[in-house]
Amino acid sequence: MKRVVIVGAGIIGLAMAKELTGYGLDVTVYDGKKSVAEGSEKASGILSKRGLELSGIEYKESIVNTLNGARLHFGRQTLKVSTEKVQAYVLDRGKLAEINYRSAVEAGVDIKLGSRLSLEQIRDFDDGNTIIVGADGAVSSVARAFSFPQIENFVLTYKAEYKNAKIGDRSMVDLYFSKKYAQGFFGWIAPYSDSVAELGIGITDRVKKHSVMAFDLFAETEGVKSVIGNAELVKGLASIIPVSSRAKTAEGNVILVGDAAGQTKATTGGGIIFGIACAKVAARSIYLHLKEDRKLSLYDKDWRRSYGTDLKMHAMLHDYYSKVSEAHMERFIGIAKALGAESFFSKHGDMDSPTLMLKRLFLRRLVK
Ligand SMILES: Cc1cc2nc3c(=O)[nH]c(=O)nc-3n(C[C@H](O)[C@H](O)[C@H](O)COP(=O)(O)OP(=O)(O)OC[C@H]3O[C@@H](n4cnc5c(N)ncnc54)[C@H](O)[C@@H]3O)c2cc1C
Repeated sequence: MKRVVIVGAGIIGLAMAKELTGYGLDVTVYDGKKSVAEGSEKASGILSKRGLELSGIEYKESIVNTLNGARLHFGRQTLKVSTEKVQAYVLDRGKLAEINYRSAVEAGVDIKLGSRLSLEQIRDFDDGNTIIVGADGAVSSVARAFSFPQIENFVLTYKAEYKNAKIGDRSMVDLYFSKKYAQGFFGWIAPYSDSVAELGIGITDRVKKHSVMAFDLFAETEGVKSVIGNAELVKGLASIIPVSSRAKTAEGNVILVGDAAGQTKATTGGGIIFGIACAKVAARSIYLHLKEDRKLSLYDKDWRRSYGTDLKMHAMLHDYYSKVSEAHMERFIGIAKALGAESFFSKHGDMDSPTLMLKRLFLRRLVK
């Protein structure tokens, strides 16, 4: 009987380990962190309500705020997408990690924290009797140890938390698109409460700038100053997000999931919903491999069949936005608003799945 080793106890590694125990398999997870929440404040936790419900992970104890919509700012144009119902949650990522760690341990997963593995240690698992899962994030050691192709596009990020911020409406997140400070991505203000906000920025790694410089420029803009002008900065941290998938995510007895595979939305950098969905596909591929001797490498085709189109659409939208000029984008948003884009996206929009949005629209047209 083969054993399964997962490198990385991030949210995707934990979700996958729990899924594998559901198939009756023994799993050991290794992570370099001493505590599971370590480093979690580097990332944000804005996730769609629908995506979270489908993911099956435990998250309710980690909710800090509810969101009804977003305001997307393009120069002088603002596109407001909102509904009366809660669309998304702001989660405390540290708590989310702790809840899912507890839940995996209760399910019988053996998690070895404080175990950062070298490339040699990872290669040593490859004894013909072990399935190795790289759930070890954007700079995956498993991918390097087994010479997987590189991820081509990254976004460099910086985010900070502010106390005593002036938040007008805590049910809305603000996204600021400008090539002056957020080349190839955007800046954001996400409310945690009536007075605590997260300010963040992403820039494409292709501009060869530091995200802290971009963050400082963003913090000086009028819209942002009105929110954090007199607020107290709690902490700031830099990180990276992969925004394209690896050309190959399975080879022999090794597979990659989550950020290690680049299973993120290129438009927003959100990686949890698709990462978990792909981890479920990966767990099933492992189960079928062990039970029916189905080739494990088919996992690559399996997840792309289910989620590849959505991720490609996110990549295309991201590519389009990155290439066009700011003036063009402002004009485009002006026209889109005049054509009813705000009510269209408020009714049919989906944070995660562009294909679902198109399906809903198509069905509406059919029944009209
Ligand atoms: C600024 C920012 C904002 C974000 N906002 C959102 C958001 O709002 N919504 C959303 O869905 N996603 C968001 N994301 C993306 C999201 O955080 C990631 O997609 C998600 O955390 C990926 O999880 P993972 O488990 O694949 O990888 P990670 O969370 O990176 O976990 C990998 C784990 O592997 C461990 N590891 C690495 N190498 C080794 C090794 N050699 N040996 C042992 N352990 C190792 C690490 O310690 C780590 O715990 C954001 C990211 C950033 C940076």
